[in-house]
Amino acid sequence: MMNKVYIGLGTNVGDRESNLKDAISELAAVPEIEIISLSSIYETNPVGYLEQGKFLNMVVCINTTFDAQTLLVTCMKIEQNLGRKREIRWGPRTIDLDILLYNQENIVTKNLIVPHPRMLDRAFVVIPLVEIDKDIILPNMEKPIREIMDDIPEKEGVRIWKRKNGEGVLGHLES
Ligand code: ATP
Ligand code: CA
Ligand code: CA
Repeated sequence: MMNKVYIGLGTNVGDRESNLKDAISELAAVPEIEIISLSSIYETNPVGYLEQGKFLNMVVCINTTFDAQTLLVTCMKIEQNLGRKREIRWGPRTIDLDILLYNQENIVTKNLIVPHPRMLDRAFVVIPLVEIDKDIILPNMEKPIREIMDDIPEKEGVRIWKRKNGEGVLGHLES
């Protein structure tokens, strides 16, 4: 069974663009995962814990045969491979991979909640998500996210940093 999943990526430690590239290469190298599309890369002001560097954020759409739990484990393994250490909540990190949406499923387990419970409060998630799928809609919501953009706070804290070009799925990450 093929599942359509959106993953949000964030990084604010080290060579941030390399961290994004490395995380996506690791996702792409998993036989059960196919990269479908990537958003542009955005630079965003930190939220929650403010005394830290700016983030680069993007969203990737994948097809996967993994169930959500196995995908979470895979994402956490990639975070570890890239040297993420868990210290301050919402603090600095080499890479963060959050499962935003898994098909149109609502999942609530001890270690996984999908849709990601804080995604609609976060312009750095919603802006790249709507960029790659302008009709994206959340389970149990009647209208597409783009129609509630007015309600998303602090959109001005999210600026395009490297625009997606027309050169194929990974175009703007190469070179
Ligand atoms: P936030 O979840 O607010 O974005 P964070 O990404 O900094 O914060 P982490 O320390 O990366 O939080 O993750 C904490 C835990 O969140 C993970 O161990 C994981 O089990 C759990 N979790 C729950 N739902 C999800 C999800 N949809 N995607 C990724 N992790 C999730
Ligand atoms: Ca996160
Ligand atoms: Ca996370």
